[in-house]
Amino acid sequence: MANKWVYMFSEGDMSMRNLLGGKGANLAEMTSIGLPVPQGFTITTEACTQYYEDGRKINDEIMAQAMEGVKKMEEINGKKFGDLQNPLLVSVRSGARASMPGMMDTILNLGLNDEVVAAMIKGNPDPKFERFVYDSYRRFIQMFSDVVMEVGKKYFEQLIDAMKEKKGVKFDVELTAADLKELAEQFKAEYKKQLGEDFPSDPVEQLKLAIEAVFRSWDNPRANVYRRDNDIPYSWGTAVNVMPMVFGNLNDESGTGVAFTRDPATGENKLMGEFLINAQGEDVVAGVRTPMPIAQMEKEFPEAYAEFIKVCETLENHYHDMQDMEFTVENKKLYMLQCRNGKRTAPAALKIACDLVDEGHKTEEEAVAMIDPRNLDTLLHPQFDAASLKAATPIGKGLGASPGAACGKVVFTADDAAAWAEKGEKVVLVRLETSPEDITGMKAAQGILTVRGGMTSHAAVVARGMGTCCVSGCGDIAMDEENKKFTLAGQTFTEGSEISIDGTTGNIYAGLIPTVDATIAGEFGRVMAWADKYRTLKVRTNADTPADAKKARELGAEGIGLCRTEHMFFEEDRIAAFREMICSDTVEEREAALDKILPYQQGDFEALYEALEGNPVTIRFLDPPLHEFVPTEEEDIKKLADAQGKSVDEIKTIIASLHEFNPMMGHRGCRLAVTYPEIAKMQTKAVIRAAINVQKAHADWTVKPEIMIPLVCEVEELKYVKKIVVETADAEIAAAGIDLKYEVGTMIEIPRAALTADEIAKEADFFCFGTNDLTQMTFGFSRDDAGKFLDAYYDAKIFENDPFAKLDQTGVGKLMETAIKLGKPVNPNLHVGICGEHGGDPSSVEFCHKIGLDYVSCSPFRVPIARLAAAQAAIANK
Ligand code: PEP
Ligand code: MG
Repeated sequence: MANKWVYMFSEGDMSMRNLLGGKGANLAEMTSIGLPVPQGFTITTEACTQYYEDGRKINDEIMAQAMEGVKKMEEINGKKFGDLQNPLLVSVRSGARASMPGMMDTILNLGLNDEVVAAMIKGNPDPKFERFVYDSYRRFIQMFSDVVMEVGKKYFEQLIDAMKEKKGVKFDVELTAADLKELAEQFKAEYKKQLGEDFPSDPVEQLKLAIEAVFRSWDNPRANVYRRDNDIPYSWGTAVNVMPMVFGNLNDESGTGVAFTRDPATGENKLMGEFLINAQGEDVVAGVRTPMPIAQMEKEFPEAYAEFIKVCETLENHYHDMQDMEFTVENKKLYMLQCRNGKRTAPAALKIACDLVDEGHKTEEEAVAMIDPRNLDTLLHPQFDAASLKAATPIGKGLGASPGAACGKVVFTADDAAAWAEKGEKVVLVRLETSPEDITGMKAAQGILTVRGGMTSHAAVVARGMGTCCVSGCGDIAMDEENKKFTLAGQTFTEGSEISIDGTTGNIYAGLIPTVDATIAGEFGRVMAWADKYRTLKVRTNADTPADAKKARELGAEGIGLCRTEHMFFEEDRIAAFREMICSDTVEEREAALDKILPYQQGDFEALYEALEGNPVTIRFLDPPLHEFVPTEEEDIKKLADAQGKSVDEIKTIIASLHEFNPMMGHRGCRLAVTYPEIAKMQTKAVIRAAINVQKAHADWTVKPEIMIPLVCEVEELKYVKKIVVETADAEIAAAGIDLKYEVGTMIEIPRAALTADEIAKEADFFCFGTNDLTQMTFGFSRDDAGKFLDAYYDAKIFENDPFAKLDQTGVGKLMETAIKLGKPVNPNLHVGICGEHGGDPSSVEFCHKIGLDYVSCSPFRVPIARLAAAQAAIANK
């Protein structure tokens, strides 16, 4: 049978999310449980994929099935598309598998044209109805032009503003039927002026173009950015939902709202939402008017409100999760337009997960599985320094739309935000309201402040998703976007003025209030304890300083997976000795310089072991090419020359001799230990002496250092360096007369090491995948420069993700699997971890779990993310 591209809402259910998208599957599910949903149909995500395969065209079969759907919809609803007696108007809305709020397109009131408008008005003499019809018509022309034909909305907004000014009114709702009629005419004229053709009047043509526009919107730049940020594959496509319109803008007995069954900012179990009388959905989301709190709906529409409360209960009991709903009241009757598991802040996610367990909705495992690990980032976000905050007086207040604190310089456009951030400036983006194309600028900003819009406005929803601090709807701001200035509480802010905002309280302050790191509290510990119970993968941290190590321990790290010892050499008191070592001519000179460094290294390692309290510590030997350490300033070169008893020219010659054409493939890693064994000897002494001291001080700890040799590509290389390490270590241990165990392992970060892992495993106690270099060497992309051209790869759809951020499972992953498969049988005690940046990326963590790693190691602030991701991987792959 031919492919089925179209499903009526009555034909689907929530298990069909992949095919129908989230919105379509939930509309079907709501239908099946008897909730009031206007009955329409969903065109599948597969049709979207087909659209792209067919060269961005909707083929006849898909369109024919869509028209079948229209026919059925007409029968169910007793109205007809394009009819002059009883016309059916529809909405056309996107809906991917994973929710992507505001990223793709929606068209409302489709099916209107001059004749339909005239017929509708003729059939109802109420002047208010006439106003409604023209309001819907001008909305449709505006939305269709913007979304489908990509005529900028600004032209239409300018026309509305001009009309409001002409009529001396402030809000759209104050415009009369005649005003709106005139606007609709102006809009059509604008359309023709912009596109050189008439506005399409045939509803079927309108529908086809709208469906195409939704499919096309899957590939718009903001959707692409959102997908990359949220690990949503491009191949999924979006479904299209075609649904009969119900009209919140019909009259004052009608309205529209957005609500959450629990507070998406705090997680509190109480209905939260917003409602606008005589309006359509986009008015709430776009923040055109600031809406009223949902509780007020009870006064305005008591029956619909009572029914809505019941619907909320039904939906929570059905989905066992907090729901985010869109609804419309038409002539006092409630219609559900959408439900989905609501986006929430990290604190809310934790509270809701715990409450759902306590209320019997979820098991612990399910609770762990429902939290987006990336979301935890926001828990660790800055807050204002308490004392500074106390001393500050707010100059205004908006809604605390997304928690956290931010301070920075005011910018007025998303582009400026991105450009200033690029220059290293901290900025707060201040806008009348944000719109989806602002996403890059919003991401670049420390915080977002809007004049209009509520808790469910675009700015609020998107900022929460990104974990960026946001204050929305501060109506007291007198904004002059064009001239890049605004006034608030008598103060004028221009581009570059300093401002601070509190996304929790909604307070706004002039000037910069310093921020401090967040402290984790509340349900975090409980959820993390569940995560720890279910995960099998250990989580270590990459830390080079005791302070980082302590922070990581607080966040649950179970060891250090990577201490990059070279970071210790850059400190003021040791760089001089290190440079002397580099510029030595003889082994003796080098050893003398290294002797100066030894006590520092030993002290550093002691502090790390102390911080780790007997948990494993992996210390990696010197890795970077030596030229990274040499002085560049004339004055420093002179200092070094004097210390070495050499001339400036001699030092310059040595520095020049360190130059390499490909330093990342050059004289670095274990190659340094091969040419200068005395470096490895010094580092071994420091590691072992520190371990002996700390072991002696803490008899109840097991201090067992793991010495890690970087950049090995050949077993003989490892053997050579290991011999130096073992001889030195054993001599130290014997001299101390103590029983101390240690391990010597290697990083696997060169493809050849992975491919010859059976050989290497004979000499290694452990492998640790250095996926930064492994990615670099597998792709042949410089890890420092790839960013310059990767954007072109995303645009061309060659890559969906940055392989340096998200592990390339197909290529680099295959090398990792190969190394494990080859290494483990040779050395059954071999333990294996990862310490490249991927160790803190949730999808990469899942891969590490699947291929049987023992641990991941990541930066301290990503430790909770890795713990949760590891638990989710264990639960999902049970
Ligand atoms: C790696 O290459 O993945 C790694 C952890 O080492 P570095 O980033 O220091 O090269
Ligand atoms: Mg490396």
